[in-house]
Amino acid sequence: MSLFSSPAFEGHEAVHAFSDQASGLRAIIAIHSTARGPAAGGCRMFAYSDDQAALDDALRLSRAMSHKNAVADLDLGGGKAVILGDPRALKSGPLFEAFGRCVEEVGGRYWSAEDVGVSPADLAHARRTTRFVAGLEGHAASSSGDPSPVTAEGVKRGIELCVRRVLGRGLDGVTVAIQGVGHVGAYVADKLAAAGARLVVTDVDGEAAQVVAARTGAVVVAPGEIFDVAAEVFAPCAMGGAISADTLDRLKVRIVAGGANNQLADARAGALMRQRGILYAPDFVINGGGIINVAGEIRALQRGEPFDPAWVEAKLGRLMETLDEVLDRAEAENRAPHEVAVAIAQARIAAAKPT
Ligand code: NAD
Repeated sequence: MSLFSSPAFEGHEAVHAFSDQASGLRAIIAIHSTARGPAAGGCRMFAYSDDQAALDDALRLSRAMSHKNAVADLDLGGGKAVILGDPRALKSGPLFEAFGRCVEEVGGRYWSAEDVGVSPADLAHARRTTRFVAGLEGHAASSSGDPSPVTAEGVKRGIELCVRRVLGRGLDGVTVAIQGVGHVGAYVADKLAAAGARLVVTDVDGEAAQVVAARTGAVVVAPGEIFDVAAEVFAPCAMGGAISADTLDRLKVRIVAGGANNQLADARAGALMRQRGILYAPDFVINGGGIINVAGEIRALQRGEPFDPAWVEAKLGRLMETLDEVLDRAEAENRAPHEVAVAIAQARIAAAKPT
C-alpha cells in the first residue's frame, strides 16, 4: 500500500490507522491541515474494494475538508475518518465505541461527525469514548444531529444566486433536475418547490423519488434519464462524479449547482462547463452548510454552551457572499469557478499558517 507516493497524498500532516479485533473495527483518520484549527470532517463507513481505496478516499476527502472549511470561513482544518466495511453487515455499538477511542487518541487534533454510512445514532456510541465528536442528537450542544437541512438551505440559496446571475430572475417557474433525493436532495426539493420551482427528480431508490414527488409535484424520471431532462438547473445530490465529458454532452442546463461532494468526474469537467457557458457552483462551496452546522456544534461543545442557530445563520450568509465572490472572480479572470474557489481556500489556509 502506498501513502507518500499515492496521487491522493498532498502534504497531509498525519495519517492514523487503527484496528480493534473485538469489534472488527478497521479505521483510518487522515489529517490534511490544522493550520486554521483542529481538523474537522465526517466519518464515512464503506465497503472499499481494498485498503488502498480506503486510504486514498481518506486522503482525498480530508484535503477537500481543508478547502471546504476554509471557504466556509471556519476556524477548523481538514480531516476525515473512514471505517472499512459494509455498514449493513458490520455496524455495532462496540464498533463505534472503539472508533471513539481512536478519535480520542488523536487528542483533539481531529473532530468527527457523520458522513455516508454513519448516523447520529452511531455517533452517540462514539460519544461515550471521545469528547471530539459532533453531529449528536439530544445533546445541549447539538442542533438536530442531522446537518442535511442546513446543507440543503445553502444549496437552495446557492441555486437561487446562480439563477439570479444567469437568468436574471427568481426561482419561481425555473425547472431544476435533482439527481438523488436522500437526506440533502429531499430537503432541497422541498425548499425549491416552496419557492415555486418546477422539479424533475430521480433516485436509484424509486420509492424515495415517489415520496418526494407526492409532496412537491415533481416529475420522476429513471436514474439514467436525468441528464437528458429539459431544465435550467442540474442539481447533483447523490454520489460523486456526476459531471463528466459524457454527461455534459447530454445536459441542456445553464447551471450546475447541487449538494453532492466531488461532482466533477475529472479536472477536465470544470473547464468543459466553462467552455460551454454552464455556470458551475463549486460543490465544496455550495454544500458547506452541513459543516457550518457541525462547526456550530463543535463551538458549543468547546465552550460548554448551548448550540447557537444565529451563529450558523451568520456563517451561512457569509458562505453565500463567498460563492458570489468566487463567481465574480471566475468571470473577471476567465477561469473555472472550481479553480478560483480552491485558490481562495488555499490562500486562507496559507495565511493561517505560522510563519
Ligand atoms: P443520502 O445517502 O441520504 O442520499 C443520496 C441519495 O442518492 C440516496 O437516496 C441514493 O439512493 C441516491 N443515489 C445514489 N446513487 C444515485 C444515482 N446514480 N442516481 C440517482 N440517485 C442516486 O446522502 P446525503 O446525506 O443526502 O448526501 C448526498 C450527497 O451530498 C453526498 O455526495 C454527500 O457526500 C453530500 N453532502 C452531504 C451533506 C449532508 O449534510 N448530508 C453535506 C455535504 C455534502
